[in-house]
Amino acid sequence: MVERNADIVIFGAGIAGLWTFNRLKSLGYDVLLLESQKIGGGQSIASQGIIHSGLKYAFAGKINKLAQSISAMPDMWRDAIRGQGPVDLSSVRVNISSQYLLIPHGFMGGLVKLVTKQALGSNVHEVKPEHWPEPIKQSGFKGSVIYMDEPVLDVASAVHSLAAPYQDCIRLIDTPDQPLEFLARHNITAKKIIFTGAASNQAIAADLGEDDGLRTQARPLKMGMMRPAPFEIYAHLVGTSDKPVATITTHKAKDGTLVWYIGGQVAERGKEVPDQEVINAAKSALQRYLPQVDTKAVQWATLPIDRIEGASDTEGWMPDTPSVHHKGAHLYCWPTKLTFAPLLSDKIMQTLQQDNIEPSKTAVDWAFLPPAPFADGPWDCADWTK
Ligand SMILES: Cc1cc2nc3c(=O)[nH]c(=O)nc-3n(C[C@H](O)[C@H](O)[C@H](O)COP(=O)(O)OP(=O)(O)OC[C@H]3O[C@@H](n4cnc5c(N)ncnc54)[C@H](O)[C@@H]3O)c2cc1C
Repeated sequence: MVERNADIVIFGAGIAGLWTFNRLKSLGYDVLLLESQKIGGGQSIASQGIIHSGLKYAFAGKINKLAQSISAMPDMWRDAIRGQGPVDLSSVRVNISSQYLLIPHGFMGGLVKLVTKQALGSNVHEVKPEHWPEPIKQSGFKGSVIYMDEPVLDVASAVHSLAAPYQDCIRLIDTPDQPLEFLARHNITAKKIIFTGAASNQAIAADLGEDDGLRTQARPLKMGMMRPAPFEIYAHLVGTSDKPVATITTHKAKDGTLVWYIGGQVAERGKEVPDQEVINAAKSALQRYLPQVDTKAVQWATLPIDRIEGASDTEGWMPDTPSVHHKGAHLYCWPTKLTFAPLLSDKIMQTLQQDNIEPSKTAVDWAFLPPAPFADGPWDCADWTK
């Protein structure tokens, strides 16, 4: 059988795999990206698309390595969006260039003090009521609106920008739990194999006897969705705990309907809870913060999903940076956040440099494997209430 010698094989076409894949391809590496289902179809397409700067964690009193390491990320994404980064995201749709914190009356003093103390001053300021975005003015919100220098992206367009230029090298794998057997069956070799399959990574490492010292965690969510949304909003509704009462982002379904996608505490209640519990929590948050929004005629849906990442030492929290577990020619990777994809990719590139793995500037034809399709947004696959 013909030998197929790739430079790199990556398993998993979420944001982690795609960012590194695009970067390697543009440098002339021969890369095969294998996906078990749909391109972007795991956590990435289900994410809210917020490119965090660390501010949320500062408000939560988590100003630490996490807030610091994440603070450089918006600029790395902005470079990519300007077409000036190691990957070209110039065709990405930016839903909003900065989002808001909505802080009800009475909560303001302590939070402002905290933020000032944490010296995130230039990225955050209070918006005078006359300059509030029109929908927030009309929503009946009473309190302070804080500008946060954090873009919110249309993740489907980011996935597309990373995958489309090299789509002929993104193919389906029919035996995802036997990745090395798949490569052997097709006579594919690689100098480095990168696992970015999120939940599957740990089991694969265990199977290959490479899970020594590897710890991961799954933090479950049940996200809420509401349609039709009355207007676009991208905001954290701040309460008294370390997580926002709700984090709302707005997404456009395929038929053009606007959808509010609701995370924060609304979603932090485990995947097994009844849908109605999530819907009631979302309704109550909207009633409290945006009382003029009429939810009588809307439809609801939920999405149960795990966040998968390296294990954190702090219960209920994520690690401070992306996680990489390196065993011989294999790298097991978790970005921790969509936001961290550029940093994870930097870490992977360093490993390749250390191992002197250079681009071969050759190109195997991967067309003998079936192509991987793109994923739809969760709102387009959801089971909506009548
Ligand atoms: C509801 C929700 C909202 C979020 N919101 C944000 C946000 O606003 N901002 C932010 O920064 N982060 C956010 N996150 C976190 C972020 O989405 C994840 O950290 C990130 O998307 C993980 O990317 P990934 O590529 O590791 O995994 P995934 O996106 O899950 O991709 C893994 C891919 O690998 C494939 N796969 C699995 N096993 C195999 C295998 N053996 N072979 C081949 N393919 C395989 C899967 O089908 C999938 O396509 C959110 C997460 C969730 C769940």
